[in-house]
Amino acid sequence: MSRIDHTHDANATSWVAGADGHAEFPVQNLPLGLFSGPDGGRRIGAAIGDFIVDLTALGREGRLPAAAALQTATLNALFAEPADVRRALRHALFALLTGEERRAEVEGHLHPASACALHVPFAIGDYTDFYVGIHHATHIGSLFRPDSPLLPNYKHVPIGYHGRASSVRPSGTAVRRPNGQRKAPDADTPLFGPSTRLDYELELGVWIAGDSEIGVPVPIAEAGERFGGLCLLNDWSARDIQAWEYQPLGPFLSKNFLTTISPWVVTAEALAPFRAPQPPRAEGDPRPLPYLWDATDQRQGALDLTLEVHLASAAMRARGDAPVRLSHGPASNMYWTIGQMIAHHASNGCDLHAGDLLGTGTISGPVPGSFGSLIEMTRGGQQPVALPTGEQRTFLEDGDALTLSARAEKPGFRTIGFGPCSGIVESAPS
Ligand code: CA
Repeated sequence: MSRIDHTHDANATSWVAGADGHAEFPVQNLPLGLFSGPDGGRRIGAAIGDFIVDLTALGREGRLPAAAALQTATLNALFAEPADVRRALRHALFALLTGEERRAEVEGHLHPASACALHVPFAIGDYTDFYVGIHHATHIGSLFRPDSPLLPNYKHVPIGYHGRASSVRPSGTAVRRPNGQRKAPDADTPLFGPSTRLDYELELGVWIAGDSEIGVPVPIAEAGERFGGLCLLNDWSARDIQAWEYQPLGPFLSKNFLTTISPWVVTAEALAPFRAPQPPRAEGDPRPLPYLWDATDQRQGALDLTLEVHLASAAMRARGDAPVRLSHGPASNMYWTIGQMIAHHASNGCDLHAGDLLGTGTISGPVPGSFGSLIEMTRGGQQPVALPTGEQRTFLEDGDALTLSARAEKPGFRTIGFGPCSGIVESAPS
């Protein structure tokens, strides 16, 4: 598990203008990503304030460790290395950005973030979506089974399904409303056309580090080493298509038309100060089976993060209205830890690789104002949300801009953020 060290010191400052006190990317964060500047080529970078520092260039000049991994056009090679290598990179980069005497070495490799494009940081081999947000699972279940919303397996096994890696895109990608097959409850036959119940899902994305071999499980005590970092993840969901297609094999085309992520990888090393004990299970809940139970994981396997969702309709943006906050809550509403998700995924011998992506599942709090999807907020489309323009929403309309955000804060440490995970809904292809 990652350690707190001098790179988390709240008093550390950077010579980069605007980095100190930056809301998301002070020198204590240093998230990693893939960017291209005005000249086009994709390079590995780190966010510092409102700038991106080119790690590929600094590696080529011999100023950073892991230089060979930094010459590739994805983060896969870097995250295939042991965590010690990424920690050494973080320490070296921290020294370059905090030491005024190092400024001349680095300044030529800083680019204004506003002039750069960010990309999906890994060649994602596989994407799996879990369902560990227990309040979300309860809210959704209660729409169908008011008396017993959670299915009997929920507290024994981290539920998940295999998603699709090809349609994962970075923040800012347009959200084209999907066409699909759906059937109204009172209709005799299905029809094909634009989804009328387009929703979002507020999730965290877990980036896998390291590689395991097929047939070899990842013991829960070692799962922390396989946690490379986090992003925000929006699992856009067409509820009408989902309702018609999901039985008996689970979601398919209702989910895989697009998954939006925040492109910066907030590393496990940066998150070290924000580790927290996993909330105790409710009295009467089963103790997890031994392969999912580790005392250290229980002691520090959760994360102190605050998650938010904001919506701005096209009419709101035209008027200059501020986005409406749909949701605000902690990320502690996860019934299973990241370590438990990883250990469970590999428990049958399924191999996990650097750059694999695990979604946590929708993270909702227990009370209104902290729900991570519209289907929960509107009780399945029955209770619309009012916008300041007088518009109402049960599900997303064309022109809606939806943004997920996250920050980690703790007394004694600098607050760090993830950068946005946004998309604007566009009309369905005709
Ligand atoms: Ca999901």
